[in-house]
Amino acid sequence: MLKNEVKTTCSYCGVGCGIIVKKDSNNKIYVEGDKDHPVNKGMLCSKGMNLHYVANDTSDRILYPEMRWSRSHPRERVSWDDALDRAASVFKSIIKKHGPDSVGFYVSGQSLTEEYYIANKLTKGFLGTNNIDTNSRLCMSSAVVGYKKTFGEDSVPISYADIELADCFLITGANPAWCHPILFRRLEKHKEENPDVKIIVVDPRKTDTANFADIHLQLIPGTDIILYNAIARSIFERGLINEEFINNYTEGFDKYKEQLGETTVKEASKLCGVSEKDIRKAADVIGLAKGFISMWAMGLNQSVVGTDKNFALLNLSLITGQVGKPGSGPFSLTGQPNAMGGREVGGMANLLAVHKDLMNEEHRREVAQFWGVDKISPTPGLTATQMFDALESGKLKAIWIACTNPLVSLPNTHRVEKAMKNAKFVVVQDISFKSDTVAYADLVLPAAAWLEKEGTMTNSERRISYLPKEINAPGEARPDVEIFCDFAQRMGFRGFNYNSAEEIYDEYAAMTKGTNIDVSFLNYDRLKNEGTFQWPVSEYRHPGTPRLFQDKKFYTPSQKAIFNIPAGIVNTSLQPNEAYPLILTTGRVRDQWHTMTKTGKVSRLKTHYPRPVLEINPVDAYLSKIKDGDITEIKSENGTVRVRAKVTENIGKGVVFLPMHWGKQLQSDLNRANNLTNTHIDPQSKEPDFKFTRVSVSKYKKP
Ligand code: SF4
Repeated sequence: MLKNEVKTTCSYCGVGCGIIVKKDSNNKIYVEGDKDHPVNKGMLCSKGMNLHYVANDTSDRILYPEMRWSRSHPRERVSWDDALDRAASVFKSIIKKHGPDSVGFYVSGQSLTEEYYIANKLTKGFLGTNNIDTNSRLCMSSAVVGYKKTFGEDSVPISYADIELADCFLITGANPAWCHPILFRRLEKHKEENPDVKIIVVDPRKTDTANFADIHLQLIPGTDIILYNAIARSIFERGLINEEFINNYTEGFDKYKEQLGETTVKEASKLCGVSEKDIRKAADVIGLAKGFISMWAMGLNQSVVGTDKNFALLNLSLITGQVGKPGSGPFSLTGQPNAMGGREVGGMANLLAVHKDLMNEEHRREVAQFWGVDKISPTPGLTATQMFDALESGKLKAIWIACTNPLVSLPNTHRVEKAMKNAKFVVVQDISFKSDTVAYADLVLPAAAWLEKEGTMTNSERRISYLPKEINAPGEARPDVEIFCDFAQRMGFRGFNYNSAEEIYDEYAAMTKGTNIDVSFLNYDRLKNEGTFQWPVSEYRHPGTPRLFQDKKFYTPSQKAIFNIPAGIVNTSLQPNEAYPLILTTGRVRDQWHTMTKTGKVSRLKTHYPRPVLEINPVDAYLSKIKDGDITEIKSENGTVRVRAKVTENIGKGVVFLPMHWGKQLQSDLNRANNLTNTHIDPQSKEPDFKFTRVSVSKYKKP
């Protein structure tokens, strides 16, 4: 490392690649992949390698606090004192009049662990409400429930290093070739070097990931549970289940077997739109594998039956005994850089810090005692979409939104707009005016960005890394922890007078002592000097834990893994009808990230997929009299989108695809995919149904 170099972690996806940041004499930033980093070994994807453009370009940044006294006045620049005094006075008065559950915080999987921890301590410990949720609710909460109910805790069992040890991969509801590119590069290399490695991809679209697969199961959207159960049944019928593992280390197999018995592979094949031969082929590959890894992301999680889909997928690892040994296990892929860190510190409405459970009285008491407060409220907090429902109905009066852009990313954005207008007080704490959400703020607070503050993050494989502060934030922007702590003190709360992010981390680390995510022997010094660590790190000089459950003891009361049975096999989304005959599925493109407030600033990232298009199968295009390049109008019960058509065989009949990144600021609100999506949520995980909206599509005719 040279003197003007510093090591950090990419601020985009949950792969968590190591980056070396260099500064020139004009303080301009350059980035390159960190060759010594265990995740990326020097590689960076298109987004990561262009991060310096985002850091150097401050033209869109929010520089000063802004406030408006009433909705009929424009916002004006104010001092930090005025801004936070007003926030504290409004929050106090609303809480006094309507109670603590009338306010809420909506935070982000991009927040650092220290920020997440403080926001949760402030809300659950001191404001007295559990109304704090995160945009990670939109991408992985179904996986959290899946892990908790199967293994007893939200614990990703394996590491990227297991990729090179496996010989069979089932990638489902994910397109890592575009969305987790460095992880995918490792997979590609592994297969190049080991041609016997088999890759099965389940996806209604022929993505770049599917094109790389040995077997692509192009299922009808929503039929995942039927498909995974059919694979399991075929494994069972071929005598390839691992009876020793099932008998000794699991519970609930008999009931699971009963559900498998209800649908034959032949019947499943018809329901899923996948040939019986391919289902059986996939089952044989999985059943005969030495090391089987399943990987999944939003395609599974973002569903009204997302948790049940997780159960059905996790059961494949249990039936084959592919957990707790090298090169095997289920592996959910997180989309945001610190979705995992947020889960660790209880950054969701139904969680408490260190994986404690909000609904457990003893856990609430322990956390309250640690924070020195009387109690934690037993009332479950509002989750992401519920918070905006409550704003719309008037139950929630004030919302504080930090580091996320719900006006583009939440489902049914017209409803979100209505909710924001109906709120009595909206605080938006962010870095960029490119966020559509800023327009609705009564109070705007400028936050520091990547490299402008220090803290830690945890990637998809439980790997904690330290991110240093390397440059000063522009204008008066401040680190989020400083903003939260300053506000807390103005509310009159004690316990927020930290001198640094490190003190916050140390408090959190002390809280983990003796738990399954113990990092009490991991501090900033070790992270700075020795690099990244995978939790738990529970002893002096402990090197971290790449793989969990090697002793086959799970975190459930019986220490056995549990077969959870999906409540049903059928998708309960609103089904297509005469008025809305097609199924819309939304997703991501290779070079953009989230709502493009960062990647949208980089011109070279716009060349790959310059504008949103509707992917439609030639048969559906023909029936709708649409040609490639025509402007189409897509309608659902919730709104309208107008974009050009891309007629392609890559998508199955009856299904259309729209990317979700574009919002009003960047194009027009008619490009916003979430105008169409529903607010229906999975009853267990509260994750929205982004992957299944019934729509109609027609050629747009100018009036
Ligand atoms: Fe960043 Fe993810 Fe790309 Fe790695 S794969 S460089 S973490 S966006």
